[in-house]
Amino acid sequence: MATAMLLREHWTPAYLAGSLLPDLDHIPLALRLVHPDPGDPRPLTHNLLTLAPVAAGSRDAAAGMAAHFVRDLAVGTGVPLLWPLTRRPVRVPYAAYAVVVLATAYSRSRPS
Ligand SMILES: [Zn+2]
Repeated sequence: MATAMLLREHWTPAYLAGSLLPDLDHIPLALRLVHPDPGDPRPLTHNLLTLAPVAAGSRDAAAGMAAHFVRDLAVGTGVPLLWPLTRRPVRVPYAAYAVVVLATAYSRSRPS
């Protein structure tokens, strides 16, 4: 959610909720006796197709999900963005993520 808050100036409840949606599957996983390994791939809720039905209901929620993907692209095992075409995760260097976040913060700090 922190990345979502950094990437957008005006937050709505739908935007913030959308930034959490891709990780809803973590709740049942946390209740299991065997927890996922940090090296496990991200769940398939992290793909571009999931944005469409969410956007049909709320563009803000879909924008929050997209912001979530921005962070996940740079940390951990990457994101299966192109599923079902491929399960291969897409990753970007953490420095690229940092540049995007810092550039956004900088552009907001300047008077318009
Ligand atoms: Zn995630």
